[in-house]
Amino acid sequence: MKFRLLSLYPDQMNIYADRGNIIFLRNRCLWRGIEFELTACGLGERFEPSGHEMLYIGGGQDRDQRTVAGDLVETKREAIGECLAGGTVMLAVCGGYQLLGESYESGSDQIGGLGLVDLKTVRGDGPRLIGPVAIETDLDGSRRMLAGFENHGGLTWLGPQAEPLGRVIAGHGNNGSDGFEGVRSGNLIGTYLHGPLLPKNAWLADHLIETGLKNAYGEDVELRPLEDGLETAAHRVALAAAISGR
Ligand code: GLN
Repeated sequence: MKFRLLSLYPDQMNIYADRGNIIFLRNRCLWRGIEFELTACGLGERFEPSGHEMLYIGGGQDRDQRTVAGDLVETKREAIGECLAGGTVMLAVCGGYQLLGESYESGSDQIGGLGLVDLKTVRGDGPRLIGPVAIETDLDGSRRMLAGFENHGGLTWLGPQAEPLGRVIAGHGNNGSDGFEGVRSGNLIGTYLHGPLLPKNAWLADHLIETGLKNAYGEDVELRPLEDGLETAAHRVALAAAISGR
């Protein structure tokens, strides 16, 4: 089996070591004897919607979001829509997450998004939402915790069509007031959790890999468990940091 990951704008949309998520996915595939292929799609480039188990877009400053937003809609929106309709997995982090929605408004400036999910983001007047965060989610059918780090000035509001990724246990989440974090829609996940997110939450990395492979190779695909001592420790420490507010 082969897990083919397409990384969108790796040069612009990569802060707080979001690239670490890709390294982690790669290792967890290779450790199981699953081939891993990474391709990148940057500014001005188009991609074929077939042949990807997963799409990934990381976080970015407002400046970087402004650089990629128009290009994202113009050269990649259609292919991303086709991928999602075909069950490809997608993970969008922070600035990338914000661009899944209709728009990101910052004062008089409005950055148009992909409009693939019913959400919008507005730059708040208050302080940025920064710090460790823990959320509870039932993404893979059982009650799970995700731990990470958030740093955003944009506040995201989900519309009636959108389902949150989880409920905030500690930290701020989408907007610091409604108790929701992230979004999920089919095999698409958007979240404010950086960190990098996946090394601190190995179960989520495996969920993404397994979902992507099942979509390509059938429901029988099952990932072999790995020796996760370090990963479990990383998860515990990140969770404890969020819960104790450090
Ligand atoms: N520029 C966005 C904000 O501050 C996203 C930042 C990020 O990706 N960390 O809201």
